[in-house]
Amino acid sequence: MSKQEETRFNPFGARPHKSTKIKHIIAVASGKGGVGKSMVTGLLATAAMQSGFSVGILDADVTGPSIGKMFNIHEKARGTDEGMLPIQSKEGISIISANMLLETDDTPIVWRGPMIANAVKEFYTKVLWQELDILFLDTPPGTGDVPLTVFQSLPIDGIIVVTTPQDLVSMVVSKTVKMAEQMNIKVLGLIENMAWMKCPHCDEKVYPFGEGRTTSLIQDYDIELLASLAIDPELTKASDEGQVDQIVNKELQKTIKDLIFKLED
Ligand code: ADP
Repeated sequence: MSKQEETRFNPFGARPHKSTKIKHIIAVASGKGGVGKSMVTGLLATAAMQSGFSVGILDADVTGPSIGKMFNIHEKARGTDEGMLPIQSKEGISIISANMLLETDDTPIVWRGPMIANAVKEFYTKVLWQELDILFLDTPPGTGDVPLTVFQSLPIDGIIVVTTPQDLVSMVVSKTVKMAEQMNIKVLGLIENMAWMKCPHCDEKVYPFGEGRTTSLIQDYDIELLASLAIDPELTKASDEGQVDQIVNKELQKTIKDLIFKLED
């Protein structure tokens, strides 16, 4: 039975449109904002698309949506009698984000938690995703009621936790991992972002926050370190200019292929 079919029997589960057939749903989460969760979601989706998968992104970070900008999408989503249509990025990633429904990109969403959680559910149920190999969820940061509702009501395969080396000190990552455990959701692994940088003189890796800061965390929780990404001005530029789908990261391509292989095993 597919994950989507399973939720048909789950009274809390959100049911997608009948034309939607999604093989895997992967949530990208972080203990707090600003660690590069959206960037990693964009890079993973790009790597998956470059590896031949059909990919979508549901931007569940409703109050701080940044996925549209990363892929240079400024148009508004259209609807049909059947549901809402996701917008395709230049390279063919299907995307839905709250900004696509707002009058202007800087209109704030001043909603309380339940309304936000409901909007995320509707992005899943009322969007005509069609057939996708992987739908990535850019989850709101933290362990509040919105990520909780999202994890409870969408049939996700598991979460990828994004962190930065400094973030670890405050133990917010542990909270995310523990929340997933409590909810019986698989932690697919950890991606360490902005962990190192390339020395501009000798090309060597420099670890401004110290090397190996994730080691004890991944050992304590028995989770896999999926990738360790650099602080890279090219990434900031690509994100600012809406060109994230032009980034080629072989490590992430391998990460996503291995992950899907394991999920289908
Ligand atoms: P979050 O979703 O966790 O709030 P974002 O993905 O929006 O964080 O990233 C915050 C900022 O940091 C953005 O301006 C983004 O372009 C930048 N950024 C994220 N990761 C990197 C990186 N590895 N190298 C350079 N800049 C990055």
